[in-house]
Amino acid sequence: MRSTKVLLLNLFLLGVFLLVAYYFWFPAIWHCQTVRFGNFTEYPGGLYVSNDATATQRDSLTQSITRSRQRIREFWGNQVGDSSIIFCHDKPSYSKFALMDEGPGCSLGTPTGSWIVLNPDGLNVDVISHEMCHDELFTRLGWFKTKNSVPQWFDEGLALMVDYRFTNPDTTRRHLDYLDEWMLMTHHGSDGMELTDIRTVKGFFGGDRHYINKAYLTAGLEVSRWLSVVGTNGLHNLLRAVRHGESFDTAYQRLEKTNHQVAEAPKLQAGK
Ligand SMILES: [Zn+2]
Repeated sequence: MRSTKVLLLNLFLLGVFLLVAYYFWFPAIWHCQTVRFGNFTEYPGGLYVSNDATATQRDSLTQSITRSRQRIREFWGNQVGDSSIIFCHDKPSYSKFALMDEGPGCSLGTPTGSWIVLNPDGLNVDVISHEMCHDELFTRLGWFKTKNSVPQWFDEGLALMVDYRFTNPDTTRRHLDYLDEWMLMTHHGSDGMELTDIRTVKGFFGGDRHYINKAYLTAGLEVSRWLSVVGTNGLHNLLRAVRHGESFDTAYQRLEKTNHQVAEAPKLQAGK
């Protein structure tokens, strides 16, 4: 009897220790997972809004979310990501939920759930669509594949395809717009960066604001170029290939090559 009590006590202490350790190791995820117990109001669809948000912010948020979902459906065909969205009324409360203090919003994907966290600067369709696009890729590929197979430049570049802060929405001009911006920022490429430099999260965000903006432009330039060759079908084929075990780099290059060959194949002449 005494040994059972000791065992239960030890299990209880172990549980408390693990909870405390989890809180200190993953504070942002802890706050996301316990948001319903904080100073937030829950709305249908997994939306949590700070009780200190103004009525104007709430209206702007719901309108922007509706328009972002539409933008995601137009780009992906449909929306399968359904992460919770947390709106913080100021930067200090946002910093508890986000992995980085900077920026208007972020998305967190874990094996146990995913969240989009926004601060007042993120109350617009570009930011919300960008974060939803990260969640879309994450949901379609799963946590392990997204974290281990997909380069950060591709994840960010893809998110820029629904985020028009760098370019205008005209998809036929998107790659040229990125090229113009990139030429300007890198002094015609003399101050450019390689995709291998921004393959990891650390490489992508490991610099000052100018470096990070250049990383975004480089990612947008590459993904817009690739998509102009393979189209949306190519994107879905890429994800399918990675899900089935092909390496990202192999599938990415293979699909581009195949599409080039199709585009360059001689057309049959009518009547021959
Ligand atoms: Zn992003």
